[in-house]
Order: sequence, then structure tokens, then C-alpha cells
Amino acid sequence: MDTAAHTDPSAAIDDARAATALFAGRLDALTDDRLDGPSALPGWGRRRVVAHVAYNARAIQRLADWARTGVENRMYLSVEVRNSEIDRGVELDAADLRALFTETAASLDAAWGALSTAAWDARVETFQGRDIPASASVWLRAREPWIHAVDLASGATFSDVPPSALGHILGDITAVWAARGEGIELRATDGGSGTVGGGGSVGGGGSVTAARGEVITGTLAELTAWATGRGTLPGTDRIAPAWM
Ligand code: ZN
Repeated sequence: MDTAAHTDPSAAIDDARAATALFAGRLDALTDDRLDGPSALPGWGRRRVVAHVAYNARAIQRLADWARTGVENRMYLSVEVRNSEIDRGVELDAADLRALFTETAASLDAAWGALSTAAWDARVETFQGRDIPASASVWLRAREPWIHAVDLASGATFSDVPPSALGHILGDITAVWAARGEGIELRATDGGSGTVGGGGSVGGGGSVTAARGEVITGTLAELTAWATGRGTLPGTDRIAPAWM
């Protein structure tokens, strides 16, 4: 839709840095004892959330390496490899797990800094097999610490995520829904302007449209919590369809 806007990755890199900072701050606020506790994601401890986000950075860095060298380097070789990596991360000492998060994020940032303009346009593949320019992988990264900072259950909510990122997340989700024919229109009460990624867009009226159909209303933060399956909304008992 807006290839030109996505080719220059600098805004997305700033977004990824801000998301990483939010996550890091919420992680730092947890004592080691609390790090051992449950996250807001059913069945996931906080340690698993941290390991998941850390190894996601590694996986996105493999895409950066692929783009830089032209040698295929997939995010993960398989679901099993991905899960066993996270399982090992969960068992690390608290200090090592914290360091893993910091180091993987810094290493990814450095890898991005080493990419040429041509490399940013090189084609890579998401874990789901979608063909994208390397520049689009930056948002795939940013989305992870934005959403999982909330899952960490350490004080962050979607109100801590900038409206532009919330709009982008909602655009991704409504694009998935639209592709499946889900007729849901998200209408933000706190306005919204600018274009979001995926198939959705936030117009001057502040609505994110997947398709004509049921209208779900709330603030951008409330809509994001609901659409990602992380919250309920007053006025509807509808459960958001899956998007991942
Ligand atoms: Zn994730």
C-alpha cells in the first residue's frame, strides 16, 4: 500500500527502540522473585515472556543477516527449534535472562545499523512464509515488545503504547480478519489520524475498518487490548477473533 514509506526504516527503528525501552523498564521494575511469577498471558510465566521476546530479537536479526549477505537465514528452522530455545531461556538464572534480553535487543539494533539501502529492500521471509522487504521486519520486531510489555504484568498497559503503534497493531489485526472475511469495524473514540500498516487504516473519524459489519467502539488502547485478546470491552461480550 505504501511501499515508499516502509522502505526507509528509521521511523520503525525508533519505534522498536521505544518498545524495547518500555519492555526493559517494566522488566527492571520486577524483582527476581516477581520475575518467577505468572504473566498476564494464560499459562505463561513472566520468564517465558522475556525469553520469547529475547529470542524474537535473535530471529529478526537472522533476517537482517539474510538481507545483508543474500544467504538465506530463516527466523526459525522449525516450531520445535523455536520452542526448545525459549524453554532453555526460561531456565536461565535471573541475571542471565535479563542480560539475554538486553544483549539480543542491542545486537539486533547494531545489525540494523549495518544494513545498506539495498539490503533494506532485499526480500526475506517471515516465519509464516510471507515474502517481505527486510525493512518491514523492523515493525514485526517492534510489535513484540509493545504487546508483550503489557503481558509482563509489571505496570504497563496499552495506554503506555503510542497511538501510532496502536493504530499499526490494529491495522495488522484487521487485515488478518478482513482476509478471513470477519466483518468487524473498530472505531476509536479518541480519534486517530494517519495511515496504519496492513489492510486497515485509521481515518479522520478514528475508525479502523476491517470490513463492513459489527462496530466495536473504544479508545485505541481499549480496542488494542480487546483485539489482541487481552481485555474485554464494555458494550460487547463478543470475543475478538484470533489473529496470530
Ligand atoms: Zn510474541
